Amino acid sequence: MGVDFPAFRNKAREVLNGVSGLGKEEDWRALLCGDCPFYHHGEEENEECGSYRLLRALIEAGALDLREALRILEGGHPEDVE
Ligand code: SF4
Repeated sequence: MGVDFPAFRNKAREVLNGVSGLGKEEDWRALLCGDCPFYHHGEEENEECGSYRLLRALIEAGALDLREALRILEGGHPEDVE
């Protein structure tokens, strides 16, 4: 697919494996902001760009499935997510 998004993949894997959740703001930042070049942990934590808001809304509504997103980002062969 030509994309990487290691922070998203790591957090999504943690959520899917039950290691962590998406209950706190910091969880969403780890999932959606971790790969953003504008993100500086601990700074501007109250600001939300349109992409952040859109992706969070889609995930919370169940319209974007983390398992499917991870499968696609990892080339369709996630080893530890099923
Ligand atoms: S809110 Fe948007 S611009 Fe800001 S760090 Fe997250 S993804 Fe990047």
